Amino acid sequence: MTVYLDHAATTPMRPQAVEAMLPFLTERFGNPSGSHAIARAARAATDDARDSVADALGAQPGEVVFTASGTEADNLAILGRGGRAVCTAIEHHAVLHAVEAVGGSIVAVDADGVVDLDGLEAALDDDVRVVSVMLANNEVGTVQALEAVAEVVRRGAPNALLHTDAVQAVNWLDVAAAASVADLISISAHKFGGPMGVGALIVREPSRLAPVIHGGGQERERRSGTHNVAGIVGLAAALRTAVEARPHLVPRVEALRDRLCDGLLAVIPDSRETGSRATKVAGTCHLLFDGVESEALLLLLDEAGVCASAGSACASGALEPSHVLTAMGIDDRLALSSLRLSLGWTTTDDDVDLALKAVPDAVARLRS
Ligand code: PLP
Repeated sequence: MTVYLDHAATTPMRPQAVEAMLPFLTERFGNPSGSHAIARAARAATDDARDSVADALGAQPGEVVFTASGTEADNLAILGRGGRAVCTAIEHHAVLHAVEAVGGSIVAVDADGVVDLDGLEAALDDDVRVVSVMLANNEVGTVQALEAVAEVVRRGAPNALLHTDAVQAVNWLDVAAAASVADLISISAHKFGGPMGVGALIVREPSRLAPVIHGGGQERERRSGTHNVAGIVGLAAALRTAVEARPHLVPRVEALRDRLCDGLLAVIPDSRETGSRATKVAGTCHLLFDGVESEALLLLLDEAGVCASAGSACASGALEPSHVLTAMGIDDRLALSSLRLSLGWTTTDDDVDLALKAVPDAVARLRS
């Protein structure tokens, strides 16, 4: 039996998304930029998807820009703005590296991963064009209170737009409400039961961004490239499903996560949870096991049928400590002994039971 506890890396597709996509991978193959009947049918599908995404995120249809990933949405938000950018130290590399590319400032977080508002205020001035603060973190799950952030940004950087990377938030939070103060919002379909390789950026009117990808002028000149119609339809179907499922999913997964996290902490000596659970999304259990190397632990867990991660998927394979953990004040040695178990819509009681046996066994083997 394989237990998948890596939903923050990617999620299994929702059947509703697969079903919605299939016609666009077969007989409804048109290019929505054309004018004949088959093209118009594809155009109608992308328009419907746009309406549906706007509705789910509290935006207008004209504010939705479809992209080829969450990474691209983040890059468009930062690079498309031009000028100086500011972000927190725990952003995904899609934001962090884009901010670094424009010579921006990085703002510290506290031990729970919550942004330091005084530090943010100190980094702001009239030249700042975009401030990026993620809604939910991909490694430890910390949620930021964007209203307080928006107030600081309005005061300290009157020419800036507020961007939030909501890629990890969709399953767990009402993004329309939690990100209502943001001008720019990134999402990625594969994190909420949709396909890989499609995302969206909400660009709230009257905000303006310069395109990062030049070409045929699709997405009202904001993002060129032939539409990934099946992907866009799949994103919209997955988003609708995730939004409808959320009221039941959150308490169910939170109870599973708490049983898993508490169970592991109770039986594994010298273990601790990263940050405060009160500030995290429901699906994330992030632990540190003193003296245990994450890489070796992940190998043993894989052998035992448990798919987990040490942090962000992009960083695994590299032996460097996670920038998120070091920003939270965790020393390099301990940061290399982390385990992220991320739960989602397919996670069951049996999965948790198996992990509650496999993780302590693996840690004990590595310590013996
Ligand atoms: N932002 C966050 C918070 C993420 O977790 C990820 C993916 O891991 C991304 C952005 C990038 O999204 P994508 O995989 O669609 O490029």
